[in-house]
Amino acid sequence: MAYRLERRTSDPATAGFEAFAQATLADPRGWGRAGFRLVPRADARFTLVLAEGPEVDALCLPYETYGLYSCQNGPMVALNADRWRTATPKWTGTLDDYRRYLVGHEVGHLLGLHHPRTQCPAPGRPAPLMAQQSTELDGCLPNPWPLDNEIVVGRRRPADLAPPYRP
Ligand SMILES: [Zn+2]
Repeated sequence: MAYRLERRTSDPATAGFEAFAQATLADPRGWGRAGFRLVPRADARFTLVLAEGPEVDALCLPYETYGLYSCQNGPMVALNADRWRTATPKWTGTLDDYRRYLVGHEVGHLLGLHHPRTQCPAPGRPAPLMAQQSTELDGCLPNPWPLDNEIVVGRRRPADLAPPYRP
């Protein structure tokens, strides 16, 4: 699956976005375990955009992201630059891991995965990547990589690539 990266903010604090996102998507702990090969290519249809809140809100319409959230909307993933810079108050892991989570979670939607029914299967265990870890960890540990059971779901190709929006 080819994708391209677009940083639409000039804030120097976001300067490493392209290299970081690319490394996350190529990491052997990531969606590659489910058989996806994610390759950067300048003319790709699938696009990961990093932008400031108001632009993310516009890109995610008709869905509301309130200047806070990120989304996958058809072939596009829009990531909130403010979250990229500072993670969220609920996040207890490192900033790098939050960034990996943000990229992996939204690309997970692009690959057709849903949020899990249970946010945290057992306190003290790593949270599912597809859980909404930005909002609540529910006693789970912050986790930026797909769990084994999420890899199993990914291998099944649960949907066409780039399904309609999910938050
Ligand atoms: Zn989500």
